Amino acid sequence: MSLEFSIHKTYGKARAGCLVTPHAEIATPVFMPVGTVASVKGVGQDLLEELGAQIILGNTYHLYLRPGIETVRKMGGLHGFMSWRRAILTDSGGFQVFSLSELRKVTEDGVRFRSHLDGSSHFFGPESAMEAQIGLGADIIMAFDECTEYPADQARMRKSMEMTGRWAARSKKYFEEHKHEVPWARVGADAFVGPAARSSAPGVAGRGTSSQSVDAADNSGLRPSGRTLRLRSGQAASVPAHARRTQCLFGIVQGGMDRALRKESAERTIEIGFPGYAIGGLSVGEPRDLTREIVESTLEHLPADKPRYLMGVGTPEEIVGYANLGVDMMDCVLPTRAARHGLLFTSEGKVSIKQARYAQDSGPLDPTCGCQVCRRYSRAYLRHLYASNEVLAQVLNTIHNLSFYLDTMQRVRHSISLGEEYRFLSGAGHDRNLEL
Ligand SMILES: [Zn+2]
Repeated sequence: MSLEFSIHKTYGKARAGCLVTPHAEIATPVFMPVGTVASVKGVGQDLLEELGAQIILGNTYHLYLRPGIETVRKMGGLHGFMSWRRAILTDSGGFQVFSLSELRKVTEDGVRFRSHLDGSSHFFGPESAMEAQIGLGADIIMAFDECTEYPADQARMRKSMEMTGRWAARSKKYFEEHKHEVPWARVGADAFVGPAARSSAPGVAGRGTSSQSVDAADNSGLRPSGRTLRLRSGQAASVPAHARRTQCLFGIVQGGMDRALRKESAERTIEIGFPGYAIGGLSVGEPRDLTREIVESTLEHLPADKPRYLMGVGTPEEIVGYANLGVDMMDCVLPTRAARHGLLFTSEGKVSIKQARYAQDSGPLDPTCGCQVCRRYSRAYLRHLYASNEVLAQVLNTIHNLSFYLDTMQRVRHSISLGEEYRFLSGAGHDRNLEL
């Protein structure tokens, strides 16, 4: 057992639960900030902890190309390399590779692709994608799948879905045979992540010695040492060593925009057997209503007692809507990417901070937001930073947007625990028609 999932409360289809991974105990439904190249752009790890990020994403394709899997493995995996004590999820590299539409060739074996950095030729298949993700050492890793393009005809969607099923079985087989090779397997998941430990134990992350990091974990309410877990009843219990020492592998449901194929894909993936299930292949250009329809119908075919991860969505309104449908985990580049373009999510709607109307606006970005940016800076100052192309503009904008997403999910969890439906109200104010 490397993953435990319990549901504490449900309201309608929404579930409030707890996901216990080797590095962190995660309250669900959860939003996961994206740290493509072992960095959530513009925000350091200490700040991510302060913002309440419980789990972040890394992208296998990017990390495989740079700095390379072996480099990360030698630093104790991603946790050691980027000094992040909480949970990490990596994708399989499939989605990024498939987005290189001109640079790839797909066969039953896997995908040959060219690096977007230097044009060099590489190959990812189920086995090599697992090998890479084991080397990166995230708590949760993903089966290698084919993200079916949109639009696609029925024959193409079926062929792609069936290949994803075969790749899922190969992914699981390789993972089961090699999961003990995760970089932190020998020293345990609570190994300290940071330069001090690395210098005392070259090649392998050593045991925790930094009071600063432990304090940060304590303040977050997360499990401080990895030695005890809070169970559903609130009691603490010792965790067998093996429970903390391996990653876990999620399966991915594909099937394009066809409900019957999605059902079949879910059944095939469940038959292989995974501790959690993702819905992939959405947000690929289809209308938003269709995304929601496919999510809702696919969720009906996933086991109620396993975590459900919807990949790559969405706006604040959408993530609230999906949580209310029973999704437990979500990720999206939108809050961080939009922030770098000066587009901010607020309780009053979207704000494009670059607009001249904010040049002399002394009010906070979002009067109801408690983040450090809204508490301290005016719209006029944020607008000035953006107009001046200051690096600080990207940093502050990203802090606010991530806060907004993470706080929104916190409210969703709170509402479910109270037996209420959380409805996202974006107000009637600013720039609601802005397209991101
Ligand atoms: Zn804020």
